[in-house]
Amino acid sequence: MMAERQPFIAGNWKMHKTLAEARTLARDIRQGAAPGRRAEVALAPPYTALAAVAAELAGSGLRLAAQDTFWERQGAFTGAISPAMLADVGCHYVIVGHSERRQHFGDTDATVNRKLTAVVAAGLIPILCVGETQAERAAGQTLQVVRGQLEGGLGALKPASGSALVVAYEPVWAIGTGLTATPGQAQTVHHFIRSLLREFLGPAAEEIRLQYGGSVTPDNAAILLAQPDIDGALVGGASLKPELFLPIIAAAG
Ligand code: PEP
Repeated sequence: MMAERQPFIAGNWKMHKTLAEARTLARDIRQGAAPGRRAEVALAPPYTALAAVAAELAGSGLRLAAQDTFWERQGAFTGAISPAMLADVGCHYVIVGHSERRQHFGDTDATVNRKLTAVVAAGLIPILCVGETQAERAAGQTLQVVRGQLEGGLGALKPASGSALVVAYEPVWAIGTGLTATPGQAQTVHHFIRSLLREFLGPAAEEIRLQYGGSVTPDNAAILLAQPDIDGALVGGASLKPELFLPIIAAAG
């Protein structure tokens, strides 16, 4: 039986936007996102703008997300932010294991697992990012890499329900490059991810939303979102411009 999964569009603002710019962008998206939309929408500003964006989104139904976290609750961890702090500022979601964290900040499947576990323990929903590099795809290792990241990232974690976890498939070669996986390439990996989730977590897999990420634009969003195992998008560059992000939200219905 096919589960009804609410489409989920999230904007990852990365290391962009001053406070004033973040407020304006959040306000524009809030005003432009149709109230009757089918999609759930989340915005992930940098840490410095979380509180300001939370204030802009209050009462709108749009969700706040963080781009990363640390796994400890509190203590002598200079520079780190805990899931409890993110919950306190109003976050609902936390991106974990983004390829830029893996590439530039040393995140591994083991640390991703610790973060994921801490996020769930704090009552937040992780968006676990997985995806292969160009070299891994060329070597025919895509499914093996994705399996390793999913298995390692989840570890022994068993979310209470399918709504307590989101997985984003983001082929590294498609992030910020203008290259997009074809709908067929993306669906193949999404279908594989769902079959792995079924293996690891059982029937909850049918409820887990799987986002595609990698140069999503208004031009390619609809066809990607039409694939049976693509339930949403994690959007980087295009989420910084309302004129691009709003049509992507609209493409989700
Ligand atoms: C991302 O950062 O998660 C991403 C998919 O970026 P972009 O949309 O710019 O490729």
